Amino acid sequence: MVTLLHHQDCISCPALVASRRRIVHGYGDATSGIVFIGEAPGRHGADQTGLPFWGDRSGRALRRMLVQVGLASNETATATLRCFITNAVRCCPPGNRTPVPDEVRACREWLRIELDLIEPRLIVPVGRIALREVGMRYLGRDPGPIRVLHATVLRSGGVTILPLIHPARISRADMQAFMTAVQPLIDERNEP
Ligand code: URA
Repeated sequence: MVTLLHHQDCISCPALVASRRRIVHGYGDATSGIVFIGEAPGRHGADQTGLPFWGDRSGRALRRMLVQVGLASNETATATLRCFITNAVRCCPPGNRTPVPDEVRACREWLRIELDLIEPRLIVPVGRIALREVGMRYLGRDPGPIRVLHATVLRSGGVTILPLIHPARISRADMQAFMTAVQPLIDERNEP
């Protein structure tokens, strides 16, 4: 399990500096070519545990899905991941609110560094904030609403993007649709 960034001294966003317990960078298998990008550390999960999508309800829902599609060996903290998991924003906002545009902008450089190092082939933006960030970087535009693009394959050069409605807000049917769509894309990666 790898963490690519270790910086804990960012003071760009005063509201986030006051609200965060820690700065949470991405972790997982940086050689897998598969990256999940969430919104920001959850107050009851990543902000406490230091691992994106770990320790709260959203994290449990995401991990259950990862196990089902073969990207995590089990639902424990010590599981082997076959993907990298990170967030668009690295500090938990006050009251668990959605990060504001200035905060997303201030954090963009951290995500850029991780993506430059990983050079992913498959990216799953989890929720609308991540979808916008990924769209601006790889498609050169805001792709549009996550509810419309959920589980829809978007391609740009060698990168495939498959948006996922945030697990905090997803229905069982939408999660099933995502798993059906993601499976061939995971397998596609493994072909010679
Ligand atoms: N935990 C995270 O790390 N990111 C989210 O978007 C939600 C919960």
